[in-house]
Amino acid sequence: MTDSPNYGFDTLQIHAGAKPDPATGARQTPIYQTTAYVFRDADHAAALFNLQEVGFIYSRLTNPTVAVLQERIATLEGGVGAVCCSSGHAAQIMALFPLMGPGKNIIASTRLYGGTVTQFSQTIKRFGWSCKFVDFDDVDAVKAAVDDDTRAIFGEAIANPGGYIMDVRAIADVADAAGVPLIIDNTTATPYLCRPIELGATLVVHSTTKYLTGNGTVTGGCIVDSGKFDWSANDKFPSLSQPEPAYHGLNFHETFGGLAFTFHGIAIGLRDLGMTMNPQAAHYTLMGTETLSLRMERHVENAQKIATWLENDDRVDYVTYAGLESSPYFERAKSVCPKGAGGLFTFAVKGGYDACVKLVNALEIFSHVANLGDTRSLIIHSASTTHRQLSPEQQEAAGAGANVVRVSIGTEDAADLIADLDQALAKATA
Ligand SMILES: *Cc1c(COP(=O)(O)O)cnc(C)c1O
Repeated sequence: MTDSPNYGFDTLQIHAGAKPDPATGARQTPIYQTTAYVFRDADHAAALFNLQEVGFIYSRLTNPTVAVLQERIATLEGGVGAVCCSSGHAAQIMALFPLMGPGKNIIASTRLYGGTVTQFSQTIKRFGWSCKFVDFDDVDAVKAAVDDDTRAIFGEAIANPGGYIMDVRAIADVADAAGVPLIIDNTTATPYLCRPIELGATLVVHSTTKYLTGNGTVTGGCIVDSGKFDWSANDKFPSLSQPEPAYHGLNFHETFGGLAFTFHGIAIGLRDLGMTMNPQAAHYTLMGTETLSLRMERHVENAQKIATWLENDDRVDYVTYAGLESSPYFERAKSVCPKGAGGLFTFAVKGGYDACVKLVNALEIFSHVANLGDTRSLIIHSASTTHRQLSPEQQEAAGAGANVVRVSIGTEDAADLIADLDQALAKATA
């Protein structure tokens, strides 16, 4: 397909980045199951290693199947380039890597995927990095948290476990004023529901494991660059704006302009951290992206029906879904994610911990798993699983109290899902 920003999302999700295979004419993108690529001659090899010519060297860095996925996700997000990697958590480290150094910090929302909280509060300390967690609804507190060592602000558009919608534009303004990039984890919203770059984000990260692949087959991640950030505006980002010793003194911003972050991610991030996406995973995720809008529409439609049904049921205390008028984020959702508030939400069951455990055990269609964004409906009782190690107060603060379950609504028949919840709630609260 020739580049045409005028094509609609439904067309781009199938065609962006892909063209018939030049060697065979294969219509579907082949899985280039190879580690290395033959150089035309010694000059060609030297030009590739000098980044004077773009091409394939070794699959830790680049692979043609992965490259198609990178271009596709970049296009769907409205970015200039993207780097795929082995998981969503790898994408977060890869996004921070060129920005950070010992003693530097990031500011992150208090409402994040649990694994991200652990990565940011514990693991990044090993690199000498740190994270300040702030309530992103308090924009002044975010501003106040910025200091001379802050190098990025990080949040989720639709926050896992759901129900919270971030005011992306307001936080982007804080990041702009501070001269640091805003990184948005767009995993639970997907580019179909939310376009963080249009709302002012610099970088978008994904766990492609979830909705982009869509059926729970492979783990993967992606970092999309808006190409809009001026890395040379201040001296905070020497890896991008000054000679980079890890690539014999190359100045990435001067050499690659808007693609500086993407080239750095491949030439140094993947080269040295090695968190590479394999071509099989890229294949499954390419299959997933082809139906992204169709699935997201159904996820949202089903979530809306089921959340409404639950909210009106006597056995349920409350439902937190930004698609419901009762949600404090109902109005904000209309501007941040105009096509719907996603497929994730939590609800509280009368009867507390025991009732939740019985509910999870009694469900037949819903699977009890620690995952989301599958075509299948999924449920988890956080207090007895992912948030087990936390105190009751901490569980409450994380929206994972003993009486709360999180659901990831699939694309099955909504009536079947409601019937399943109905019979399981009857057993749970008998
Ligand atoms: C799953 C998830 C991640 C981590 O992704 P992995 O692919 O499991 O490493 C990060 N952020 C969000 C919002 C997620 O749902």
